[in-house]
Amino acid sequence: MADYSIWVLDYAAVEKFPLSVMLYGPQYQGTRKLPYAYVLLKGKGGTILIDTGYDHVNYGKTLAELYGVTNYHGPVEVLAECGVRPQDVTTVFITHAHFDHMGAMGHFPNAKFYVQQREIDKWVWALTLGPEYRFLVGAVDPADIVTAVELTRQGRLVCLDGDHEDVLPGIDVHLAADTHTYGSMYVTLRNDGKRDSQDVWIFAGDLLYTYDNLTGLDPASPQFVPIGLAVGSQSNLIFASAEMLRSVGGEHKRVIPVHENRLQSLFPSRRTVAGLQVVELALAAGETSKVA
Ligand SMILES: [Zn+2]
Repeated sequence: MADYSIWVLDYAAVEKFPLSVMLYGPQYQGTRKLPYAYVLLKGKGGTILIDTGYDHVNYGKTLAELYGVTNYHGPVEVLAECGVRPQDVTTVFITHAHFDHMGAMGHFPNAKFYVQQREIDKWVWALTLGPEYRFLVGAVDPADIVTAVELTRQGRLVCLDGDHEDVLPGIDVHLAADTHTYGSMYVTLRNDGKRDSQDVWIFAGDLLYTYDNLTGLDPASPQFVPIGLAVGSQSNLIFASAEMLRSVGGEHKRVIPVHENRLQSLFPSRRTVAGLQVVELALAAGETSKVA
């Protein structure tokens, strides 16, 4: 039986996202739906989020409108689908500082946060460079960086330096430097608690937008194809993809891209009244299904 229950929770979407950004290269090949989502884990006495979503006010709202985000719902409503309240959340892992992953940190008053030090340091640096360098800070809300610093002052945000095992029982984090962002982090869950686990899940942040980043579009000739949005290098994205896939023994569907609209058809899922998907990847002992 699994140690942690796992759900992927949609909270908004971009209905028509260019395929050329999801998958580097193919221009003029149309669009796909891009859900915005975060991951909820429950187990071992913890209620854990991987990323927070954003706050649909101020500059977060401006960025969301720029990217064509629709059907936004806040964490109170989204987490209620799994019987969780924001104040119940004990730990949050931030994969990277883009607004749609880090922008709602203020909604979790009892949580301890983990992020890579390099991510915070380099965004502060990039924000000092001036307007002609604004590509480098495209999806960052400076207010989120300020919130991160304030949480550090309160002793609630831990800046990690690289890879760490068992940050929580069975949960490891890995730095993928200079990829999608300067200090992107992916999270590995060994859901049987074993070091040599047979039940590994990886939460990829935006190192992947779609499973197609692991296979390419030609099933006859698989290849790694990086996402089309990086401040680091495509090589680093490809090697991070290979490392993640290796960690799950080559079982693609265990490397979770939260922006992948096909999660709902690969795993048990339910569409909420608000038109959002709840996707259930695993259930721990004693937990009831939230998609039945
Ligand atoms: Zn991102």
